[in-house]
Amino acid sequence: MADEKDIYALGETPPLGYVPQRMHASLIREERFGEPKDAFAVEEIDVPPVGPKEVLVWVMAAGTNYNNVWAALGTPLNVIGQRQRGGAEEDFHIGGSDASGVVWAKGDEVTNVDIGDEVVLSCGRWDEDAADIKAGVDSMSSSSNHIWGYESNWGSFAQFTIVDHYQCHPKPPQLSWEASAAYMLTGATAWRMLHGWPPHVVEEGDPVLVWGGTGGLGSMAIQIVREAGGIPIAVVSDEAKFEFCLQMGAQGVINRKEFEHWGRLPDIDDAEAFGEWMKGAGAFRNKFSEALGRRGAPKIVFEHPGEATIPTSIFLVDNAGMVVICAGTSGYNADVDLRYLWMRQKRFQGSHFANTQQARELNDMITEGRIDPALSRTFQFDEIGASHQLMYENAHPPGNMAILVNAPQEGMTELPA
Ligand code: NAP
Repeated sequence: MADEKDIYALGETPPLGYVPQRMHASLIREERFGEPKDAFAVEEIDVPPVGPKEVLVWVMAAGTNYNNVWAALGTPLNVIGQRQRGGAEEDFHIGGSDASGVVWAKGDEVTNVDIGDEVVLSCGRWDEDAADIKAGVDSMSSSSNHIWGYESNWGSFAQFTIVDHYQCHPKPPQLSWEASAAYMLTGATAWRMLHGWPPHVVEEGDPVLVWGGTGGLGSMAIQIVREAGGIPIAVVSDEAKFEFCLQMGAQGVINRKEFEHWGRLPDIDDAEAFGEWMKGAGAFRNKFSEALGRRGAPKIVFEHPGEATIPTSIFLVDNAGMVVICAGTSGYNADVDLRYLWMRQKRFQGSHFANTQQARELNDMITEGRIDPALSRTFQFDEIGASHQLMYENAHPPGNMAILVNAPQEGMTELPA
């Protein structure tokens, strides 16, 4: 065919199903580890082969997530070195754990999608033949689980990406490519945190504290709580962020900059320092009640800042309530005053992305228009580093950011000077 070529420029489209040899990809290399703005560079590489249970997707748009801030920095995990120790040959990382696109090729054993299907991709991967999964363990709790486009290579910051068949979900037909690429990682993570740990699931009338209300996770969490009939109370670091949280459905918003007791607990035997800490935590509890409109405590605290906020979260959560956590953005050495944990029978629950069913439930909520992807801003393919830099500096706009890959580059907004 005349238009069958070895590589296509961004904006050109190969014939449906024709797989070129080479592609454009935004790569992180070890020698570029550091701030995201310097870590990514567009290069030409081979299109990877497709395994029997795998799907090759022509990426229309990708999502920006915090995990590729970590990948760019090379810490807490050198993702390239880690994979090489496991036998991988590639000396580069293609990040990108969110995408929308078109199924372009598939392995012999794939039956759930066809060439030409428009899909949204979820980032949880695992070995379906792993002994623990065959024994009935939840796929995201399997020892084989890993995150596509972070722990595994060939993510969505490239013209083609490779995924396992179960990572494909129908694209919401009403949404643009970029809006479709924005929500799955944060949305499905928030969905599992709020619906995946019974009996601590959000229900009608339940107050829920959501840290980082304008963040990727927070914007999804507020809406999920709202849709369950719960009462989301968001925390942010600037009053300019209040309006967005209220629009998402928060009943109240707290400015964390009004408090100073963040970080690790003082020595419990240091009465003066501990008393000061209790004053700060108590004032935060009063602020929560004020935002709620009555004296009360959250049934669930939606955690991800980690070290800075865990002591407060454990103190604040209601008796027999749950602090559910999926990250430690501010640090990993979090202190728990165990007296509050056992005497008040609280639960401290780890949570990581979502299984296929949970990702599909979240996708259905988006398709039905009940949850908005909260797309904040769309970047061009060569601005992947810039979008991650904004996230690294906590200077990104409220919601979820997306990047145009093969989708037409119109509709993008200007970068700040
Ligand atoms: P994000 O868009 O940057 O939002 C995080 C929010 O946290 C920020 O908006 C910020 O809001 C708040 N924050 C930052 N530092 C804080 C501190 N010291 N104390 C209190 N709040 C603080 O990022 P995201 O996409 O929501 O992701 C958040 C974290 O979760 C990242 O570490 C990411 O890697 C992780 N994550 C994990 C999973 C998983 O499956 N395990 C999935 C998604 C994300 P304010 O400054 O306004 O308070």
